[in-house]
Amino acid sequence: TRRKLIAGNWKMNGDLASLAELGGIAIAAQNAPGIDVAIAVPATLIAPAIAAAPGLSIGAQDVHWSAKGAHTGCISVAMIAEAKAEFSIIGHSERRADNGETDAQVKSKAEALHAGGLDAILCVGETLDERDAGQAVAVVTGQLAASVPEGAAADWLSIAYEPVWAIGTGRTPTVSDVAAMHEAIRTKLRELIGAEADAMRLLYGGSVTGDNATELLGASDVDGALVGGASLTAAKFVPIVEAGA
Ligand code: 13P
Repeated sequence: TRRKLIAGNWKMNGDLASLAELGGIAIAAQNAPGIDVAIAVPATLIAPAIAAAPGLSIGAQDVHWSAKGAHTGCISVAMIAEAKAEFSIIGHSERRADNGETDAQVKSKAEALHAGGLDAILCVGETLDERDAGQAVAVVTGQLAASVPEGAAADWLSIAYEPVWAIGTGRTPTVSDVAAMHEAIRTKLRELIGAEADAMRLLYGGSVTGDNATELLGASDVDGALVGGASLTAAKFVPIVEAGA
């Protein structure tokens, strides 16, 4: 059976003062030894977050695929590793939209993270137009085909299904829509990486809250959540951790 992963994504939010929230989150993680809990913070907060909450898995929200060089404003795997990040999110729809990231780049980022000994949470998801056009499964499986590295393994890679229209909107797909997409993702992963697909964690992301977490986490093939807004405070995130435990 797959260990659940409840991951927070602070996006471009948070400051040194807000690291106080991590204390309560770390306690909730300790009280839920059967699941993994992680928070992706802005890069400037990685080291202070680890100092504030030793034992909590802290990660980055993006990373460059190159080891170093002329990439102004970017950050390498070795840099986040030196700050003691354990993982990075890659391919988030906000980076795809704001920064034009491609599936090929996302694949290179996954490979760079694995080569550097870090884990990756690779995000996929369709827009509302794509869903309305009946293209949701085709879009998501296409993203997977072009971005999951050959030989990817469940001990370092997780997939997050985040429908773009559900992010920050308070709208979520139905539980049966989530289950259907996660089944389609796992089927595609079997094609891409074989039996390893059955060990890989598939997270759902998009307007997850303490109120809907139990229902969404109960859907078949849902192995965790990637949480934006509701990960910013312990008061909102701890109930989601408890729902996953
Ligand atoms: P919200 O939980 O704020 O909808 O964000 C989801 C998300 O994009 C997590 O990566």
